[in-house]
Amino acid sequence: MKTDVAIIGGGPGGAAAAMFLSQTGLRVTMIEKAQSPRYHIGESLTGECGNCLRALGLEEEMTARRHPVKYGVTVYGPRGRNAFWVPVKGWHPGSGLFDTHTWSVRRSDFDHMLFTAAAARGVSVMKAEAVAPLLNGNTVRGVRVRTNGSIVEDIASEVLIDASGQGTFLSNAGMIGQKVRGNYDRQVAVFSQVTGAIRDPGAASGNTLIFYRQKHHWAWFIPLDDEITSVGIVVPAEYYRAKNESKHQFLMRELYQLNPELTRRLPEIEFVEEVRGISNYSYRLLNFTGKGFLCVGDSHRFIDPVFSFGVFFAMKEAEYAASSIASFFADSKREQPNPFIDYQRLCDRGQDNIQELIDAFWEHPYAFSMLAHHRYPEDVIHMFAGRVYNETPLPGLLAMRSINEQGRKKRVAHECAGSIN
Ligand SMILES: Cc1cc2nc3c(=O)[nH]c(=O)nc-3n(C[C@H](O)[C@H](O)[C@H](O)COP(=O)(O)OP(=O)(O)OC[C@H]3O[C@@H](n4cnc5c(N)ncnc54)[C@H](O)[C@@H]3O)c2cc1C
Repeated sequence: MKTDVAIIGGGPGGAAAAMFLSQTGLRVTMIEKAQSPRYHIGESLTGECGNCLRALGLEEEMTARRHPVKYGVTVYGPRGRNAFWVPVKGWHPGSGLFDTHTWSVRRSDFDHMLFTAAAARGVSVMKAEAVAPLLNGNTVRGVRVRTNGSIVEDIASEVLIDASGQGTFLSNAGMIGQKVRGNYDRQVAVFSQVTGAIRDPGAASGNTLIFYRQKHHWAWFIPLDDEITSVGIVVPAEYYRAKNESKHQFLMRELYQLNPELTRRLPEIEFVEEVRGISNYSYRLLNFTGKGFLCVGDSHRFIDPVFSFGVFFAMKEAEYAASSIASFFADSKREQPNPFIDYQRLCDRGQDNIQELIDAFWEHPYAFSMLAHHRYPEDVIHMFAGRVYNETPLPGLLAMRSINEQGRKKRVAHECAGSIN
């Protein structure tokens, strides 16, 4: 079988890439191994993720499906105090910031919506597992897949998109090097869904809440519909192991010990989903594009779940990937050593900027809250939304970079002093 673009994975990254590409007239084949709908974690969307959905013409359907409307996120400090609020705001070059909203979603429903929308727009959808890239030297020429009945088929493509999420298909196939561990690699998340949680009143009831206990120890609270709320605890792996509890015991105890404001919001809860866990989810791949291929979303990088950037990156990179692939097809010569290097640099810029935001939050919480509240609240609103790809960095981002850099220097000096003594 032959196609212009083959996509591995029908999650938000793969399905969005398929839909953006379907607008270019290219033949697109999307390969997904799981039966849709399927469970996935990652439920709170950023403001610019909402705009990706609008760009795909899906706003009406998001509203019809009654996904909770999110106007912002409240981050509660230790002991429930020093909360700060970051609203979801849009931005217009002429008039500046304006009020808008995004959504939080039950991923099985949301991903199924994207998956079926891609199929409805002419994308050829295949239920199969990608098992190996097809190579001609260093050039990826397609992908070998195995369908349900263990039948093996080769799909020849001009471009292969790896959107396999944490499956990191091309990395595992040895095409793009080893994963580099991310800064938040040694973390464990334990999560489920509950009824009976107390939300903010009225229109604010769909907002995301984050509860901070101490560095790298926090909880999320994300409304999924009128009744059900996603709750999750994230802690260092050592802490989790030392507790020596079942996932269920761990989650129950933490929900009532982590932060008094979280306790207040969970007077009588009932679990309506199994308790799940995930660890070692933070990594990056340094090179994720080349002749005949590129990666989007988790297939090349995931930083940290705090502040909910994963689905946004997957969908925004899908949009950029589609535009880069359209330019590639429009170029009759196609002689560059890496036709997608500009795409890779753009993705790195956005993700590096969010890395600075997250590092500043974890490593320098007091300085971070000064920047967020007093010095650069507008820049922090832009960054939380996902407006992080500009060539000229925002002053608030430069300030975060600077405090992170000073912190790194201090840590190095401290380590050197330790090794001399
Ligand atoms: C604890 C935790 C909490 C999170 N919370 C949030 C949040 O609140 N908001 C947010 O935006 N993000 C969140 N994320 C991140 C979010 O889950 C991911 O970033 C997002 O799902 C990435 O989308 P994707 O399309 O790249 O990958 P995925 O959504 O993982 O989709 C990949 C798809 O590829 C398929 N696949 C894999 N291998 C193959 C193969 N060989 N052949 C065929 N198909 C294959 C899989 O079945 C899957 O359907 C969280 C992550 C974690 C770990």
